[in-house]
Amino acid sequence: LFITLEGPDGSGKTTQVSKVADYLAQHHIDFIQTREPGGTRISDKIRGLILDPEHQEMHDLTEVLLYAASRAQHVHEKIIPNLEQGKVVLCDRFVDASLAYQGFGLGVGEERVLQVNNIATSGLVPDRSYFIDVSPQVGRSRMKARYGDGNLDRIEQKDFTYHDRVREGFQHIFSNNTERIIRINGEQDPDTVFLEIAKDLEVLLAN
Ligand code: C5P
Ligand code: MG
Repeated sequence: LFITLEGPDGSGKTTQVSKVADYLAQHHIDFIQTREPGGTRISDKIRGLILDPEHQEMHDLTEVLLYAASRAQHVHEKIIPNLEQGKVVLCDRFVDASLAYQGFGLGVGEERVLQVNNIATSGLVPDRSYFIDVSPQVGRSRMKARYGDGNLDRIEQKDFTYHDRVREGFQHIFSNNTERIIRINGEQDPDTVFLEIAKDLEVLLAN
């Protein structure tokens, strides 16, 4: 079972990933927790390259391909082997993030981002994705509360028009994949958000 969490920056998805991990542990389910970009040694190095605020000149296609390269390593080194061992794989972000950020945010387009990622993942698709939806304004104010203005990465630093496109991208992807993706209002308090996830997880794990 492959489960992903998605959402704009400051949506609280990382908080929810650890709540899901606690839930799986309490239910004695064999699982691994991982994240993107990153999750392996090589993927983490690529993450650093992508997010470095000094890399302002990075071309949009370079960004798409670096995310995909990071993901290819992660999928083949870690995600698929763990799924093959029968483990639940819980991942913070996956292909939906590339569709939203690079496809919609940068305007590279859904089609091209999907093509590249189909190659990178060998077609692996999550069984369930939770989309934690918040407005860029709420997301930004949470990030500010967390670490001030100074520590935003290259992507987080982009303006609200970019982050609005990302959010609309996520909403578009959700509306085309309502079987796989569950949308949750991320402007609620974290415990309420988790209750909604847990309600679905219970059914998912029973099947
Ligand atoms: O989820 P996390 O905050 O660790 O992601 C790191 C950064 O990468 C964020 O700024 C996020 O906006 C960005 N990102 C992206 N495209 C992706 C995945 C993440 O721009 N496909
Ligand atoms: Mg972030």
